[in-house]
Amino acid sequence: MSKAVSGAMRSMPEHSTGPEMAVRRLLFARGLRYRVQYPVPGSPRRSIDIAFPGKKVAVFIDGCFWHGCAEHRNIPAHNRDWWQNKIDQNRARDRDTDEKLCAAGWLVLRFLEHDPAEMIVHKMLKVINASNGNNSMGDTP
Ligand SMILES: [Zn+2]
Repeated sequence: MSKAVSGAMRSMPEHSTGPEMAVRRLLFARGLRYRVQYPVPGSPRRSIDIAFPGKKVAVFIDGCFWHGCAEHRNIPAHNRDWWQNKIDQNRARDRDTDEKLCAAGWLVLRFLEHDPAEMIVHKMLKVINASNGNNSMGDTP
């Protein structure tokens, strides 16, 4: 436990967003074990923000600007095309990452940094609890 925690602390990237940290604190308080910056299966240069490898649940908390949030994308007027192109590339990569994870049997949850941490954790817990003990059941009722 303490080893895993200190490992997570060490690997904490400096670009972690405030909302992601709030979500992690809530998860930690609930005793959930997660990994941060976990490599995407088949694409080790990409990483999952918060991963539950045992349950194959991947959570991304995307920055509003870089991921093209409809509410908060204040694209600078200067070099607008360049910014828009960068954001489009990010979004295309997001979709590609989702597809890779789905192909590997992972469930992907994506949130934006403006989403309340409590709401994010609530949705995560629903998915994680739903996957509990259902691994061999498939779609059978
Ligand atoms: Zn936003």
